[in-house]
Amino acid sequence: MPSLERQNPCGLGPSQPMTGLRSRHRDGLTLYEFDHLAAFKDVEHGITTRHGGHSAAPFQELNLGLGVGDDPSAVARNRRRVFRRFGGVPVFLRQVHGVRVVTVSRKDGGPMAAGGAPPAEADALITDVPGLALVVLVADCQAVLLYDPVKGVVGNVHSGWRGSAGNVIGAAVGAMAEGFGCRPADIHAGVGPSLGPCCAEFIHFRRELPPAFRRYRVGMHHFDFWAASWDQLTGAGLRPDRIRIGRICSRCRRDDFYSYRAARITGRFAAVIGLR
Ligand SMILES: [Zn+2]
Repeated sequence: MPSLERQNPCGLGPSQPMTGLRSRHRDGLTLYEFDHLAAFKDVEHGITTRHGGHSAAPFQELNLGLGVGDDPSAVARNRRRVFRRFGGVPVFLRQVHGVRVVTVSRKDGGPMAAGGAPPAEADALITDVPGLALVVLVADCQAVLLYDPVKGVVGNVHSGWRGSAGNVIGAAVGAMAEGFGCRPADIHAGVGPSLGPCCAEFIHFRRELPPAFRRYRVGMHHFDFWAASWDQLTGAGLRPDRIRIGRICSRCRRDDFYSYRAARITGRFAAVIGLR
């Protein structure tokens, strides 16, 4: 197995110093965990790699995404393997690069109802229901895990460049405040492996990204979306010491993670969070 601890070869990165993301090998699976979230007993979380599953090339090995061209039975076996480890009922979204937030609350009927429902078209999930595993699937986009230990609420956000431009992160934090009375200062956040400033090249940035994103420009056409997420999280009221940016570039680390920029036909890895 390739080393999972090597650094990005690029050396570029945002100024925010805290990564706090490390790999753990458990039950034959390699999962990345944020130290600050792992310290809480009531929350379960992890980020999968591409190692340890049943998918054949070019989806090898642990592809969790349906609809990308992989054999659905291999994906089903991979999903069973991953969610046996997490224990919760998985809740997926139909991710559409928007800013809609889906809330699953205790009054909605509990974990089985949410787990059995067809995926909603949205890019963020929040819940106060124990026993659910909120899933975001990515290959370069950011998964942003959120946890408020005071109110007992978790969130999982899919933020690609369109979600970043629309501030889906701010929408999710706002929904936690509105739906569950969370104080943003109590929320802990982690940004998973995703396209780094080394590889986030946007030749057409003038028409694709809002003018406010010029401040995240690195060199000619590259952008630091990790810094954008940092700003969106702190802008929503999170404390800087409760935010971790994983600073692992999925394209530089394509041997360990799926990267759409590295190979258009590829799998998806998952970020998962749930209340025990
Ligand atoms: Zn990179």
